[in-house]
Amino acid sequence: MNNTSYNPFENAQKQFDRAADMLDLDQATRDLLRNPMREHHFSIPVRLDDGTVKVFKGYRIQHNDARGPAKGGVRFHPQETADTVRALSMWMTWKTAVADLPLGGGKGGVICDPHDLSELEQERLCRGWIRQVYKNIGPETDIPAPDIMTNSKHMLWMLDEYEVLSGKRAPGTITGKPVGMGGSQGRTEATGYGVIIMVREALKELDTLPSNTIASLQGFGNVSQYAIELFTQIGGKVICVSSWNQEDLTSYSYKKDSGIDLDELKSITDNFGGIIKNKAIDLGYEILPGDAWLEQNVDILIPAAIENQITLENVNKISNRVKIIAEGANGPTSPEASDIINDRNIFVIPDFLANAGGVTCSYFEQVQSNMNYYWEKDEVLSKLDVKMTSAFIAVSDFAKDNNLNMRDAAYVISVDKVARACHDRGWV
Ligand code: NAD
Repeated sequence: MNNTSYNPFENAQKQFDRAADMLDLDQATRDLLRNPMREHHFSIPVRLDDGTVKVFKGYRIQHNDARGPAKGGVRFHPQETADTVRALSMWMTWKTAVADLPLGGGKGGVICDPHDLSELEQERLCRGWIRQVYKNIGPETDIPAPDIMTNSKHMLWMLDEYEVLSGKRAPGTITGKPVGMGGSQGRTEATGYGVIIMVREALKELDTLPSNTIASLQGFGNVSQYAIELFTQIGGKVICVSSWNQEDLTSYSYKKDSGIDLDELKSITDNFGGIIKNKAIDLGYEILPGDAWLEQNVDILIPAAIENQITLENVNKISNRVKIIAEGANGPTSPEASDIINDRNIFVIPDFLANAGGVTCSYFEQVQSNMNYYWEKDEVLSKLDVKMTSAFIAVSDFAKDNNLNMRDAAYVISVDKVARACHDRGWV
């Protein structure tokens, strides 16, 4: 998204082709799964606070719904592109399949920078997005959710607009709503916690105690903060995180050898996960270049920011100590870098498996919203642990049985499930 020569959709298609070859899929199934089934591209006119109107470009792309309604987040980002949304929608299809959820894959976005918009302007943008797509979404067709730079407040405005337009209450239409307004307990924690449930299981396979491990993360937003919370709860230490700096329009890494203090760092972070650099300096953090998080002498790397961050240019900077890379972000590793990481025998928990906790809890939220009966947080988190652990074990067992790495195993399992659903429905 931040690199104009990088095309995430081409990467997603390359990854799909590799799985399709391994599965020996027929041509019609390849043609169907290689591209989204439906794409909605639209303009959203928004009246700004100064009375002028600005027109934003918006998307909702449904990659595949053979296994159930499409599901996936809506991003607000200045470098959003149709191909980013296409790639993310395809990854959602594989993610819901690998997590064994009765859902398909979709994704949405708006090209915008919410930092530049007031609260009221953001609300009008959310309502405008819904006005363009409300006929194409719903609890039985496609269920949006938050993603980068969108949050529970945005989701509630979107749901409200949907309910106004459709003339009925339909809380199962959108997930990631505020708790008490149809949101699920545990949704905020789910993606980050899910990443660490996977790390915990991988460490068991490597016969290593979490308390003997150190991690470095890219990003300090929703996924990263909750990953750090659970990782430190199970005994691990985090020495470095990076974040995007809105003032310099660049990223920095923030390091403390004694271990970062999560609450302290959160107290100097804006609502979009940007750490305030000068305050970090005052608190004794070492300020390093943006990709220094990747070069740290740690056991575990967790990219939890954006796509295409581990590439041929920096992959060789990864320390020999690194045993696990848990991809919290979607598509953080280029296919070329991925090959080098495999050759180095680093245990990779691929993105759509590692970060499936979010959509798993979104599914729980949808179920609760449809029932209009809400579970306690402990119940949600223990169900999350069961789902994530069993997804990890299924992929890990398949990888061992078929002599595959974790990414290939996860791809083969999920593409096979979706292809079978398309066959069974008689589509191909
Ligand atoms: P967020 O907006 O809360 O946080 C993003 C973080 O990344 C921020 O700290 C930001 O400063 C940082 N960042 C952005 N660009 C950066 C750069 N170039 N270098 C370093 N840091 C940078 O987003 P999030 O919800 O935490 O999502 C992070 C990733 O996880 C995304 O790839 C998203 O698609 C994926 N993901 C999120 C969820 C979820 O439930 N939130 C679920 C699945 C996958």
